[in-house]
Amino acid sequence: MSDRSHMTLATMARYEEARVQPIGDRAIVVGGSMAGLCAARILHDVVDKVVILERDDLPHGPESRGGAPQTSHPHAMLEAGRATLEDLFPGFSNDVLAAGGLELDMTRDIAWYDHGGVVAESATPLSALYASRPLFEHVVRERVRDTPGIRFREGCHFIDYQHDPASEPCHGRPVQRREGHGDGTRRDAHRRCDGSDESDAGVARATRLSVP
Ligand SMILES: Cc1cc2nc3c(=O)[nH]c(=O)nc-3n(C[C@H](O)[C@H](O)[C@H](O)COP(=O)(O)OP(=O)(O)OC[C@H]3O[C@@H](n4cnc5c(N)ncnc54)[C@H](O)[C@@H]3O)c2cc1C
Repeated sequence: MSDRSHMTLATMARYEEARVQPIGDRAIVVGGSMAGLCAARILHDVVDKVVILERDDLPHGPESRGGAPQTSHPHAMLEAGRATLEDLFPGFSNDVLAAGGLELDMTRDIAWYDHGGVVAESATPLSALYASRPLFEHVVRERVRDTPGIRFREGCHFIDYQHDPASEPCHGRPVQRREGHGDGTRRDAHRRCDGSDESDAGVARATRLSVP
């Protein structure tokens, strides 16, 4: 049995700012949804400036948007996710509750209908945060917006990576305004992180390029 099989919430590795070291002056994150926002928050600890390229114009409230069309139903945030977001954004849970989210007991307050029947209530309570996914994202996005050193470039469709093996690991990223207007512009960074969720290919490229 691998060690991973023994991982519990109590043994889950927590993020510690004090353990990370500066690695460069600028990083680019592709995609400003949950993964991209969290990546930007962590990169902010190791580079001076982080730019998030996001295809959508991002709302200032808990609103659905085209780039995350799968989000309109209620979401339950499991404890590992909540604890991680609390580490990255202290006060996250209270912010969600203040914005209209709920803290419910997953075993009693929610009816789980599965295989033709409702799952029985458990004797052990299991607390979780409930909200729409746009609300969770809104709370995180506002915290990122308030972080000096992180900037959003919205309505900005990332196209592809440019890579020169002889120089920096990954040194150019052409982007263009959505809907095709404007010429492509290029952004350079020492690090880049792909949270666009549309490109396993991008992740594969990153692996080949040895980008951490
Ligand atoms: C139908 C459905 C239901 C789901 N239900 C649940 C659920 O109930 N609970 C749950 O926890 N998970 C659920 N999921 C999974 C969850 O939605 C995803 O795991 C999560 O959204 C992934 O987040 P992400 O930040 O990685 O990517 P996404 O949320 O997909 O975000 C990608 C971001 O990148 C941007 N982007 C994409 N391409 C580009 C580009 N070329 N240039 C610039 N920006 C770009 C997009 O606009 C978007 O902002 C569901 C998924 C689906 C499809």
